[in-house]
Amino acid sequence: MKQPFVTLEQLRSITQQYPTPFHLYDEKGIRENVRRLKAAFAWNPGFKEFFAVKATPNPAILKILREEGCGADCSSLTELMLSQRCGLTGSEIMFSSNDTPAADFKLAAQLGATINLDDFTHIDFLKETIGYIPETISCRFNPGGVFTIGQSAEGFQVMDNPGDSKYGFTREQLFEGFKKLKAMGAKRFGIHAFLASNTLSNDYYPTLAGILFRLAVELERETGCDICFINLSGGVGIPYKPDQPANDIAAIGEGVRQQFEQILVPAGMGDVAIYTELGRFMLGPNGCLVTKVLHFKHTYKEYVGVDACAANLMRPAMYGAYHHITVMGKEDAPCDHKYDVTGGLCENNDKFAIDRMLPQVEIGDLLVIHDTGAHGFSMGYNYNGKLRSAEVLLQEDGSTRLIRRAETPEDYFATLIFD
Ligand SMILES: *Cc1c(COP(=O)(O)O)cnc(C)c1O
Repeated sequence: MKQPFVTLEQLRSITQQYPTPFHLYDEKGIRENVRRLKAAFAWNPGFKEFFAVKATPNPAILKILREEGCGADCSSLTELMLSQRCGLTGSEIMFSSNDTPAADFKLAAQLGATINLDDFTHIDFLKETIGYIPETISCRFNPGGVFTIGQSAEGFQVMDNPGDSKYGFTREQLFEGFKKLKAMGAKRFGIHAFLASNTLSNDYYPTLAGILFRLAVELERETGCDICFINLSGGVGIPYKPDQPANDIAAIGEGVRQQFEQILVPAGMGDVAIYTELGRFMLGPNGCLVTKVLHFKHTYKEYVGVDACAANLMRPAMYGAYHHITVMGKEDAPCDHKYDVTGGLCENNDKFAIDRMLPQVEIGDLLVIHDTGAHGFSMGYNYNGKLRSAEVLLQEDGSTRLIRRAETPEDYFATLIFD
Protein backbone atom coordinates (compact mmCIF):
# COMPACT_ATOMS: atom_id res chain seq x y z
CA MET A 1 0.00 0.00 0.00
CA LYS A 2 1.14 3.52 -0.69
CA GLN A 3 1.67 5.50 2.49
CA PRO A 4 1.92 9.29 2.50
CA PHE A 5 5.19 10.58 4.03
CA VAL A 6 3.13 12.93 6.19
CA THR A 7 0.45 12.22 8.83
CA LEU A 8 -3.00 13.77 9.11
CA GLU A 9 -1.93 15.43 12.33
CA GLN A 10 1.10 17.01 10.65
CA LEU A 11 -1.03 18.10 7.70
CA ARG A 12 -3.61 19.70 9.97
CA SER A 13 -0.93 21.86 11.48
CA ILE A 14 0.78 22.57 8.12
CA THR A 15 -2.52 23.68 6.57
CA GLN A 16 -3.02 26.13 9.46
CA GLN A 17 0.06 27.91 8.18
CA TYR A 18 -0.16 27.35 4.43
CA PRO A 19 -3.55 27.18 2.76
CA THR A 20 -4.20 24.34 0.31
CA PRO A 21 -3.37 23.51 -2.37
CA PHE A 22 0.41 23.18 -2.08
CA HIS A 23 3.16 20.80 -3.04
CA LEU A 24 4.96 19.25 -0.07
CA TYR A 25 8.46 17.70 -0.29
CA ASP A 26 10.13 15.23 2.04
CA GLU A 27 13.75 16.23 2.76
CA LYS A 28 14.52 12.98 4.56
CA GLY A 29 13.24 10.88 1.66
CA ILE A 30 15.20 12.95 -0.86
CA ARG A 31 18.48 12.59 1.05
CA GLU A 32 18.04 8.86 1.65
CA ASN A 33 17.27 8.32 -2.02
CA VAL A 34 20.41 10.13 -3.24
CA ARG A 35 22.50 8.11 -0.80
CA ARG A 36 21.09 4.86 -2.21
CA LEU A 37 21.84 6.03 -5.76
CA LYS A 38 25.41 6.98 -4.88
CA ALA A 39 25.96 3.67 -3.07
CA ALA A 40 24.71 1.81 -6.15
CA PHE A 41 27.35 3.51 -8.33
CA ALA A 42 30.13 3.77 -5.73
CA TRP A 43 32.17 1.29 -7.82
CA ASN A 44 32.66 4.08 -10.40
CA PRO A 45 34.96 6.78 -8.97
CA GLY A 46 33.78 9.44 -11.44
CA PHE A 47 30.06 8.81 -10.91
CA LYS A 48 27.87 11.90 -10.69
CA GLU A 49 24.14 12.54 -10.74
CA PHE A 50 23.12 15.75 -12.49
CA PHE A 51 19.59 16.31 -11.22
CA ALA A 52 17.19 17.18 -14.06
CA VAL A 53 16.25 20.68 -12.92
CA LYS A 54 13.10 20.74 -15.04
CA ALA A 55 11.58 18.08 -12.77
CA THR A 56 11.62 20.30 -9.65
CA PRO A 57 13.17 23.71 -10.26
CA ASN A 58 13.44 24.96 -6.70
CA PRO A 59 16.57 26.35 -4.99
CA ALA A 60 15.93 24.48 -1.71
CA ILE A 61 15.76 21.18 -3.59
CA LEU A 62 18.85 21.94 -5.70
CA LYS A 63 20.77 22.89 -2.56
CA ILE A 64 19.80 19.68 -0.71
CA LEU A 65 20.86 17.65 -3.73
CA ARG A 66 24.10 19.60 -4.04
CA GLU A 67 24.89 18.92 -0.38
CA GLU A 68 24.50 15.24 -1.24
CA GLY A 69 26.96 15.61 -4.12
CA CYS A 70 24.65 16.11 -7.10
CA GLY A 71 25.06 18.57 -9.94
CA ALA A 72 22.33 19.99 -12.15
CA ASP A 73 21.14 19.09 -15.63
CA CYS A 74 19.74 22.22 -17.27
CA SER A 75 17.76 22.58 -20.47
CA SER A 76 17.20 26.34 -20.77
CA LEU A 77 18.54 29.79 -20.00
CA THR A 78 16.49 30.22 -16.83
CA GLU A 79 17.40 26.78 -15.52
CA LEU A 80 21.06 27.73 -16.03
CA MET A 81 20.45 31.00 -14.18
CA LEU A 82 18.71 29.15 -11.35
CA SER A 83 21.59 26.70 -11.01
CA GLN A 84 24.07 29.57 -11.03
CA ARG A 85 22.14 31.33 -8.26
CA CYS A 86 22.23 28.11 -6.23
CA GLY A 87 26.03 28.23 -6.40
CA LEU A 88 26.49 25.55 -9.02
CA THR A 89 29.19 26.21 -11.61
CA GLY A 90 31.49 24.60 -14.14
CA SER A 91 31.50 20.84 -14.24
CA GLU A 92 28.61 20.68 -11.75
CA ILE A 93 26.30 21.74 -14.57
CA MET A 94 25.30 19.64 -17.55
CA PHE A 95 23.51 21.50 -20.33
CA SER A 96 21.29 19.08 -22.28
CA SER A 97 18.93 21.06 -24.45
CA ASN A 98 17.51 20.86 -27.95
CA ASP A 99 16.52 23.45 -30.54
CA THR A 100 18.83 25.63 -28.48
CA PRO A 101 18.79 29.44 -28.66
CA ALA A 102 22.17 31.22 -28.93
CA ALA A 103 21.73 32.98 -25.57
CA ASP A 104 21.42 29.63 -23.80
CA PHE A 105 24.68 28.33 -25.30
CA LYS A 106 26.39 31.60 -24.37
CA LEU A 107 25.43 31.36 -20.71
CA ALA A 108 26.23 27.63 -20.58
CA ALA A 109 29.70 28.35 -21.94
CA GLN A 110 30.20 31.32 -19.62
CA LEU A 111 29.36 29.12 -16.61
CA GLY A 112 31.73 26.44 -17.86
CA ALA A 113 28.88 23.93 -18.02
CA THR A 114 29.39 20.71 -19.92
CA ILE A 115 27.47 21.18 -23.15
CA ASN A 116 25.67 18.15 -24.50
CA LEU A 117 24.89 18.79 -28.18
CA ASP A 118 21.58 17.54 -29.53
CA ASP A 119 22.38 17.82 -33.24
CA PHE A 120 25.21 17.75 -35.76
CA THR A 121 24.39 21.28 -36.99
CA HIS A 122 24.80 22.59 -33.44
CA ILE A 123 28.55 22.04 -33.73
CA ASP A 124 28.89 24.94 -36.17
CA PHE A 125 26.13 26.89 -34.41
CA LEU A 126 27.97 26.62 -31.10
CA LYS A 127 31.27 27.68 -32.68
CA GLU A 128 29.62 30.68 -34.34
CA THR A 129 27.79 31.58 -31.14
CA ILE A 130 30.57 31.42 -28.57
CA GLY A 131 33.61 31.64 -30.87
CA TYR A 132 35.21 28.32 -29.94
CA ILE A 133 34.51 24.67 -29.22
CA PRO A 134 34.91 23.82 -25.52
CA GLU A 135 37.60 21.26 -24.66
CA THR A 136 34.98 19.11 -22.92
CA ILE A 137 31.95 18.33 -25.05
CA SER A 138 29.20 15.74 -25.19
CA CYS A 139 26.83 14.53 -27.91
CA ARG A 140 23.40 12.98 -27.60
CA PHE A 141 22.89 9.71 -29.46
CA ASN A 142 19.64 8.46 -30.97
CA PRO A 143 19.87 4.89 -32.28
CA GLY A 144 16.50 5.18 -34.09
CA GLY A 145 14.07 2.30 -34.40
CA VAL A 146 12.19 0.82 -31.48
CA PHE A 147 13.76 0.17 -28.10
CA THR A 148 12.46 -2.82 -26.13
CA ILE A 149 13.53 -4.77 -23.08
CA GLY A 150 12.27 -8.11 -21.85
CA GLN A 151 8.75 -9.37 -21.88
CA SER A 152 6.17 -9.56 -19.13
CA ALA A 153 2.61 -10.89 -19.01
CA GLU A 154 1.29 -7.61 -20.45
CA GLY A 155 3.85 -7.49 -23.28
CA PHE A 156 7.18 -5.75 -23.32
CA GLN A 157 8.56 -4.63 -20.00
CA VAL A 158 9.88 -1.45 -21.59
CA MET A 159 9.09 -0.17 -25.04
CA ASP A 160 9.78 3.21 -26.53
CA ASN A 161 10.26 4.75 -29.91
CA PRO A 162 13.61 6.56 -30.34
CA GLY A 163 13.05 6.56 -34.12
CA ASP A 164 10.08 8.88 -33.62
CA SER A 165 11.77 11.20 -31.18
CA LYS A 166 13.30 14.52 -32.13
CA TYR A 167 16.43 14.14 -30.02
CA GLY A 168 20.01 13.30 -30.74
CA PHE A 169 22.50 12.43 -33.49
CA THR A 170 22.22 9.36 -35.71
CA ARG A 171 25.07 6.89 -35.45
CA GLU A 172 26.75 8.20 -38.63
CA GLN A 173 26.38 11.79 -37.46
CA LEU A 174 27.95 10.88 -34.14
CA PHE A 175 31.10 9.46 -35.76
CA GLU A 176 31.37 12.47 -38.11
CA GLY A 177 30.54 14.84 -35.25
CA PHE A 178 33.28 13.50 -32.99
CA LYS A 179 35.88 13.82 -35.78
CA LYS A 180 34.74 17.34 -36.52
CA LEU A 181 34.71 18.39 -32.87
CA LYS A 182 38.20 16.96 -32.37
CA ALA A 183 39.48 18.87 -35.38
CA MET A 184 37.92 22.03 -33.89
CA GLY A 185 39.75 21.62 -30.58
CA ALA A 186 37.64 19.35 -28.36
CA LYS A 187 39.75 17.10 -26.11
CA ARG A 188 37.41 15.30 -23.71
CA PHE A 189 34.27 13.65 -25.01
CA GLY A 190 31.05 12.30 -23.60
CA ILE A 191 28.08 10.38 -24.99
CA HIS A 192 24.51 10.71 -23.80
CA ALA A 193 21.26 8.92 -24.65
CA PHE A 194 17.73 8.90 -23.28
CA LEU A 195 15.83 6.02 -24.89
CA ALA A 196 12.82 5.37 -22.65
CA SER A 197 10.92 7.31 -20.03
CA ASN A 198 9.63 6.24 -16.61
CA THR A 199 10.94 2.69 -16.97
CA LEU A 200 10.01 0.14 -14.34
CA SER A 201 12.74 -2.38 -15.02
CA ASN A 202 16.11 -2.95 -13.42
CA ASP A 203 17.34 -3.72 -16.95
CA TYR A 204 16.83 -0.29 -18.53
CA TYR A 205 20.09 1.34 -17.42
CA PRO A 206 22.19 -1.82 -17.90
CA THR A 207 20.77 -2.32 -21.43
CA LEU A 208 21.34 1.33 -22.32
CA ALA A 209 24.83 1.15 -20.78
CA GLY A 210 25.63 -1.89 -22.94
CA ILE A 211 24.63 0.03 -26.09
CA LEU A 212 26.58 3.16 -25.13
CA PHE A 213 29.67 1.31 -23.88
CA ARG A 214 29.98 -0.64 -27.15
CA LEU A 215 29.46 2.56 -29.10
CA ALA A 216 32.11 4.31 -26.99
CA VAL A 217 34.68 1.60 -27.75
CA GLU A 218 34.01 1.89 -31.49
CA LEU A 219 34.03 5.69 -31.38
CA GLU A 220 37.36 5.82 -29.57
CA ARG A 221 38.92 3.32 -31.99
CA GLU A 222 37.65 5.00 -35.12
CA THR A 223 37.96 8.67 -34.22
CA GLY A 224 40.75 8.65 -31.64
CA CYS A 225 38.59 10.84 -29.40
CA ASP A 226 39.14 10.45 -25.66
CA ILE A 227 35.79 9.41 -24.20
CA CYS A 228 35.76 10.49 -20.58
CA PHE A 229 32.14 10.09 -19.53
CA ILE A 230 28.97 8.27 -20.49
CA ASN A 231 25.71 9.88 -19.47
CA LEU A 232 22.82 7.45 -18.97
CA SER A 233 20.49 10.44 -18.61
CA GLY A 234 17.03 10.06 -17.03
CA GLY A 235 14.32 7.49 -17.47
CA VAL A 236 14.51 5.35 -14.33
CA GLY A 237 10.90 5.29 -13.25
CA ILE A 238 8.80 5.09 -10.12
CA PRO A 239 5.73 2.98 -9.29
CA TYR A 240 2.84 5.42 -9.54
CA LYS A 241 0.35 2.59 -9.01
CA PRO A 242 0.23 0.76 -5.68
CA ASP A 243 0.59 -2.68 -7.29
CA GLN A 244 3.68 -1.81 -9.36
CA PRO A 245 7.08 -3.02 -8.15
CA ALA A 246 9.66 -0.32 -7.51
CA ASN A 247 13.03 -0.32 -9.24
CA ASP A 248 15.94 -1.60 -7.18
CA ILE A 249 18.66 0.99 -7.63
CA ALA A 250 21.32 -1.29 -6.13
CA ALA A 251 20.50 -3.95 -8.75
CA ILE A 252 20.54 -1.27 -11.47
CA GLY A 253 23.99 -0.05 -10.39
CA GLU A 254 25.27 -3.62 -10.30
CA GLY A 255 23.84 -4.29 -13.78
CA VAL A 256 25.68 -1.25 -15.17
CA ARG A 257 28.89 -2.35 -13.40
CA GLN A 258 28.73 -5.76 -15.11
CA GLN A 259 28.43 -4.12 -18.54
CA PHE A 260 31.31 -1.81 -17.63
CA GLU A 261 33.52 -4.77 -16.64
CA GLN A 262 32.58 -6.73 -19.77
CA ILE A 263 32.87 -3.97 -22.36
CA LEU A 264 34.85 -0.93 -21.23
CA VAL A 265 37.48 -2.47 -18.97
CA PRO A 266 38.81 -4.97 -21.59
CA ALA A 267 38.99 -2.08 -24.09
CA GLY A 268 41.27 -0.16 -21.73
CA MET A 269 38.48 2.32 -20.95
CA GLY A 270 38.06 1.51 -17.26
CA ASP A 271 38.50 5.18 -16.32
CA VAL A 272 35.26 6.34 -17.96
CA ALA A 273 32.95 8.19 -15.54
CA ILE A 274 29.26 7.31 -15.40
CA TYR A 275 26.81 10.19 -15.20
CA THR A 276 23.07 10.16 -14.64
CA GLU A 277 20.47 12.90 -15.09
CA LEU A 278 17.60 11.50 -13.10
CA GLY A 279 14.60 13.65 -12.24
CA ARG A 280 11.57 11.50 -11.56
CA PHE A 281 13.48 8.82 -9.67
CA MET A 282 15.10 11.42 -7.39
CA LEU A 283 12.08 13.47 -6.49
CA GLY A 284 8.84 11.88 -7.72
CA PRO A 285 7.85 9.89 -4.61
CA ASN A 286 9.30 12.56 -2.32
CA GLY A 287 6.66 15.12 -3.17
CA CYS A 288 2.88 15.20 -2.97
CA LEU A 289 0.10 17.63 -3.78
CA VAL A 290 -2.08 18.45 -0.78
CA THR A 291 -5.59 19.57 -1.63
CA LYS A 292 -8.91 20.01 0.14
CA VAL A 293 -12.37 18.84 -0.90
CA LEU A 294 -14.54 21.84 -1.77
CA HIS A 295 -17.65 20.36 -3.37
CA PHE A 296 -19.63 17.27 -4.21
CA LYS A 297 -21.55 16.94 -7.38
CA HIS A 298 -23.94 14.19 -8.33
CA THR A 299 -25.12 14.09 -11.95
CA TYR A 300 -24.45 11.10 -14.19
CA LYS A 301 -21.42 10.37 -12.03
CA GLU A 302 -20.17 11.25 -8.56
CA TYR A 303 -17.71 14.13 -8.57
CA VAL A 304 -15.42 15.26 -5.80
CA GLY A 305 -14.28 18.82 -6.50
CA VAL A 306 -10.97 19.82 -4.91
CA ASP A 307 -9.13 23.14 -4.62
CA ALA A 308 -6.21 22.01 -6.83
CA CYS A 309 -6.54 21.62 -10.60
CA ALA A 310 -4.54 20.43 -13.60
CA ALA A 311 -2.63 23.73 -13.51
CA ASN A 312 -1.04 22.38 -10.30
CA LEU A 313 -0.48 18.88 -11.70
CA MET A 314 -0.81 18.37 -15.41
CA ARG A 315 0.19 14.73 -15.76
CA PRO A 316 -3.27 13.13 -15.41
CA ALA A 317 -4.79 15.57 -17.93
CA MET A 318 -1.85 15.44 -20.31
CA TYR A 319 -0.84 11.78 -20.24
CA GLY A 320 -3.78 10.11 -18.53
CA ALA A 321 -1.22 9.41 -15.79
CA TYR A 322 -2.28 7.61 -12.63
CA HIS A 323 -1.57 9.36 -9.33
CA HIS A 324 -2.58 7.53 -6.19
CA ILE A 325 -4.85 9.42 -3.80
CA THR A 326 -5.06 9.01 -0.04
CA VAL A 327 -8.01 10.50 1.82
CA MET A 328 -6.22 11.54 4.99
CA GLY A 329 -7.57 10.00 8.16
CA LYS A 330 -9.49 7.34 6.23
CA GLU A 331 -6.52 5.10 5.36
CA ASP A 332 -8.20 2.07 6.89
CA ALA A 333 -11.75 2.74 5.68
CA PRO A 334 -13.04 0.54 2.85
CA CYS A 335 -12.69 1.98 -0.67
CA ASP A 336 -16.36 1.47 -1.52
CA HIS A 337 -17.19 4.72 -3.32
CA LYS A 338 -16.45 5.46 -6.96
CA TYR A 339 -15.52 9.06 -7.74
CA ASP A 340 -14.09 11.34 -10.39
CA VAL A 341 -11.79 13.71 -8.53
CA THR A 342 -11.81 17.00 -10.40
CA GLY A 343 -10.28 20.46 -10.43
CA GLY A 344 -12.01 23.62 -11.53
CA LEU A 345 -10.55 24.25 -15.00
CA CYS A 346 -12.94 24.70 -17.91
CA GLU A 347 -11.53 21.54 -19.46
CA ASN A 348 -13.16 18.18 -19.00
CA ASN A 349 -9.78 16.49 -18.75
CA ASP A 350 -9.14 18.35 -15.48
CA LYS A 351 -9.53 15.17 -13.45
CA PHE A 352 -6.97 13.82 -11.01
CA ALA A 353 -8.76 10.48 -11.03
CA ILE A 354 -11.57 8.86 -13.02
CA ASP A 355 -13.76 6.11 -11.56
CA ARG A 356 -11.44 5.86 -8.56
CA MET A 357 -12.52 3.73 -5.62
CA LEU A 358 -12.04 5.73 -2.44
CA PRO A 359 -13.48 5.78 1.06
CA GLN A 360 -16.53 8.01 1.43
CA VAL A 361 -15.20 11.54 1.05
CA GLU A 362 -16.59 14.56 2.90
CA ILE A 363 -16.29 18.26 2.24
CA GLY A 364 -13.20 19.56 4.02
CA ASP A 365 -11.29 16.28 3.78
CA LEU A 366 -7.60 16.61 2.96
CA LEU A 367 -6.42 14.55 0.01
CA VAL A 368 -2.81 13.64 -0.63
CA ILE A 369 -2.12 13.15 -4.33
CA HIS A 370 1.03 11.02 -4.39
CA ASP A 371 4.23 11.11 -6.43
CA THR A 372 4.06 14.72 -7.58
CA GLY A 373 7.64 15.60 -6.58
CA ALA A 374 8.91 15.52 -10.17
CA HIS A 375 7.21 16.98 -13.26
CA GLY A 376 4.43 18.17 -10.92
CA PHE A 377 4.62 21.80 -9.85
CA SER A 378 7.12 22.45 -12.65
CA MET A 379 4.61 21.73 -15.42
CA GLY A 380 2.18 24.25 -13.91
CA TYR A 381 0.54 27.01 -15.88
CA ASN A 382 -1.92 29.88 -15.53
CA TYR A 383 -4.83 28.73 -17.66
CA ASN A 384 -8.21 30.04 -16.49
CA GLY A 385 -6.27 32.58 -14.42
CA LYS A 386 -5.34 29.84 -11.94
CA LEU A 387 -2.38 30.73 -9.78
CA ARG A 388 0.59 28.51 -9.07
CA SER A 389 0.62 27.05 -5.58
CA ALA A 390 3.19 27.26 -2.82
CA GLU A 391 5.89 24.64 -2.33
CA VAL A 392 6.63 23.56 1.24
CA LEU A 393 9.54 21.49 2.52
CA LEU A 394 8.99 18.97 5.31
CA GLN A 395 12.42 19.12 6.95
CA GLU A 396 14.24 16.26 8.58
CA ASP A 397 13.28 17.40 12.09
CA GLY A 398 9.57 17.40 11.18
CA SER A 399 9.29 21.18 10.89
CA THR A 400 8.23 22.85 7.65
CA ARG A 401 9.69 25.64 5.55
CA LEU A 402 8.09 27.60 2.74
CA ILE A 403 10.36 27.17 -0.28
CA ARG A 404 8.16 28.97 -2.81
CA ARG A 405 5.28 31.26 -2.01
CA ALA A 406 1.98 30.87 -3.78
CA GLU A 407 1.34 33.24 -6.69
CA THR A 408 -0.97 36.16 -6.03
CA PRO A 409 -3.20 38.01 -8.48
CA GLU A 410 -0.44 40.66 -8.65
CA ASP A 411 1.89 38.05 -10.13
CA TYR A 412 -0.73 37.20 -12.71
CA PHE A 413 -1.19 40.87 -13.63
CA ALA A 414 2.53 41.66 -13.62
CA THR A 415 3.06 40.93 -17.31
CA LEU A 416 -0.20 42.40 -18.58
CA ILE A 417 -0.28 45.70 -20.41
CA PHE A 418 -3.45 47.76 -19.96
CA ASP A 419 -4.12 50.70 -22.33
C1 LIG B 1 13.60 15.14 -18.68
C2 LIG B 1 15.03 14.79 -18.82
C3 LIG B 1 15.70 14.09 -17.81
C4 LIG B 1 15.00 13.55 -16.60
O1 LIG B 1 14.07 12.59 -16.92
P1 LIG B 1 13.33 11.72 -15.79
O2 LIG B 1 12.32 10.93 -16.54
O3 LIG B 1 12.72 12.71 -14.86
O4 LIG B 1 14.36 10.89 -15.12
C5 LIG B 1 17.04 13.86 -17.98
N1 LIG B 1 17.71 14.30 -19.07
C6 LIG B 1 17.13 14.98 -20.06
C7 LIG B 1 17.91 15.45 -21.21
C8 LIG B 1 15.76 15.25 -19.97
O5 LIG B 1 15.16 15.91 -20.97
